[in-house]
Amino acid sequence: MIIIEPHIHMLSRTTDDYQAMYQSGVRCCVEPAFWLGAPRHHPGTFFDYYDLILEYETVRGERFGIDHYACISVNPKEADKAELARTTLAGIDEYLDHPRCVCVGEIGYNEITKNEEAAFVQQLHMAEQRELPVLIHTPHRNKKKGVERIIDVLKAEKVTMPRINIDHNTEETIGLCTPLDCWAGMTVYPYSKLDPLRVVNILKEHGLERKLVNSSADWGVSDPTSLKQTADNMKAAGFSDDQIKKVVFDNPLAFYSQTQKFKPRLDLTPLPIESFQR
Ligand SMILES: [Zn+2]
Repeated sequence: MIIIEPHIHMLSRTTDDYQAMYQSGVRCCVEPAFWLGAPRHHPGTFFDYYDLILEYETVRGERFGIDHYACISVNPKEADKAELARTTLAGIDEYLDHPRCVCVGEIGYNEITKNEEAAFVQQLHMAEQRELPVLIHTPHRNKKKGVERIIDVLKAEKVTMPRINIDHNTEETIGLCTPLDCWAGMTVYPYSKLDPLRVVNILKEHGLERKLVNSSADWGVSDPTSLKQTADNMKAAGFSDDQIKKVVFDNPLAFYSQTQKFKPRLDLTPLPIESFQR
């Protein structure tokens, strides 16, 4: 089973993780721009980070047989610093136009503040102008209120809904997204929040159309092979191979292929470890 991982933060993962992902079937992954775990203070720190996920991680992924793409944004958590967000967004165009940038994200809300919303709306329009997909982060606290607010903003701004992925849904919010023309993401975590079994139950209840499952693995407790575990749990729950393929391959391929820039190479061969140079 070939897997496309639609949301993972490889910058914070080791080469062991790339190897484990390849073994589990991952041949392509997409890395959204997000918070680094400590606050940034300068636009230049964002720009260097964008270069890193657009260029260096592509090389690193390729060495391990995984075609790596990125999404670029000022993330919601740091968007609350209005001046930093404004000056960073003033210089973000060249990164959004980079050939490996296939999406604007993560954008959305963290604490649902006015500043977060201003950066969110501005970046929605940057995506719309470029006809790029959009990855929307939903708050971990007040998730339902955050998702409702996101949907109101998407409607008010008249964005192209099939290019939107509202991510990190739970049982509480998935029903808000399913009736819309947008995509609904779910993040699998090994211990807290959604585990593979809960994702499978949501898929049973809400169907497979426009659903994206991801590991969102970062420097927190997370597992970069979560999609393989989700596939195994789907199999055990009676889903067919075609249905499993739809969730772990066809859907992420369809979502990101809305930009011509996404042309995943699925036949990369991992290089022998001893050939790697620093
Ligand atoms: Zn993320």
